[in-house]
Amino acid sequence: MIPFEEALAILETYSIKQGTEYVDLYHALDRILAEDIHSDVSMPPFNKSAMDGFACRKSDLKNPLVVVEEIPAGTTPTKTIGENQCARIMTGAMVPEGADFVVMREHAEMLDANHIQCTHETSQTNICLLGEDVKAGDLVIKSRTKILPSHIAILASVGYWLPLVFRTPSVAIISTGDELVEPVVKPESSKIRNSNSYQMFAQIQQLGIEPQYLGIIRDNQESLEEILSIALQKYDVTLISGGVSVGDFDFVPRILNKLGVNVPFHGMNVKPGKHLLFGEKENHFIFGMPGNPVSSFVQLEVMVKPFLAGLMGSVEENVYWYLPLEVEFVRPKGDQLIFIPALPSGKGTVMPVEYHGSAHIHAYVHAKLIMEIPLGITKIKKGDQVRVRPL
Ligand code: AMP
Ligand code: MG
Repeated sequence: MIPFEEALAILETYSIKQGTEYVDLYHALDRILAEDIHSDVSMPPFNKSAMDGFACRKSDLKNPLVVVEEIPAGTTPTKTIGENQCARIMTGAMVPEGADFVVMREHAEMLDANHIQCTHETSQTNICLLGEDVKAGDLVIKSRTKILPSHIAILASVGYWLPLVFRTPSVAIISTGDELVEPVVKPESSKIRNSNSYQMFAQIQQLGIEPQYLGIIRDNQESLEEILSIALQKYDVTLISGGVSVGDFDFVPRILNKLGVNVPFHGMNVKPGKHLLFGEKENHFIFGMPGNPVSSFVQLEVMVKPFLAGLMGSVEENVYWYLPLEVEFVRPKGDQLIFIPALPSGKGTVMPVEYHGSAHIHAYVHAKLIMEIPLGITKIKKGDQVRVRPL
């Protein structure tokens, strides 16, 4: 049994980057950029009106102004604004030469068809200046950033309609267990439905990876050996659920050994998921996931996702928050790091969700956070900080 942090550090040493490829903006979400993005334009590209109104000289605001032209967005002004002149202007349109102020439509009184009077002077000019957000040539997004919708807006604005991203690893999912039936079947006595495969599938999809499901494999050595030898050659990463603990039919560790897989760790001082196994053979990786659905869920969040993000070139760290605990937490022994489902209380604090242990997947239906109780800690007072990660 090694501590959680040691297991994480081992995983980091195996993070190799995949190759790169170009993707279009429809498919760039959640991918990791493999190039720095520089803007080819200034933003705004010209002095731009932030309001519908009248562009004029600030020094003329007390006077009646004559309207000399109309400037819709997307047209270039033809006149220079002189003394006591203004141009009717729309939001997003180019501010004409000579003007240094836009009177909002709401602050202008029409004196007649061609004249206005400003009724309310504001300190804001209502003009966004050329290049005030971004200058042509600026670095706007760094390589190895995970692309979110706001990044897509920037990519589009600066003309990167085919950004270069890291390839995603191929991921295979397998469940093991003689007790398992697929969800379509109503389980007879002694059987249960396979939930892990689908949960793992969805968690992997959250990373922008489309995994391959290889089905349920029964608890016998031959079938397991056959599927694992194929998966380990064909996929970058294999997730196999069940069969990694110490039961008589937990064959996975033995088979990996037989297949020549190097196992940097098997077992961590954590709950749930202490039997997590990590194996590697020729840059193909395997995680022996715990069979219990909560253990599998938590370990996929805290271990597998950061590992896959690393493979995909991400340098963004594990996301943690520190928040005060809403109620006191006490446990008899502090011999493990434990992960507990929790919720934001709505008062800026963390509230643990009622939880009966690692088979209680229903507890996570209500959870929005995974809360950590560190190794060695038996009591946390109400109001003390706990580390949580968002789900
Ligand atoms: P194992 O790790 O194979 O010893 O399984 C631990 C527990 O998790 C047992 O109660 C199994 O029935 C349950 N389990 C194993 N695999 C799955 C699965 N794919 N879906 C739901 N429960 C599972
Ligand atoms: Mg099993």
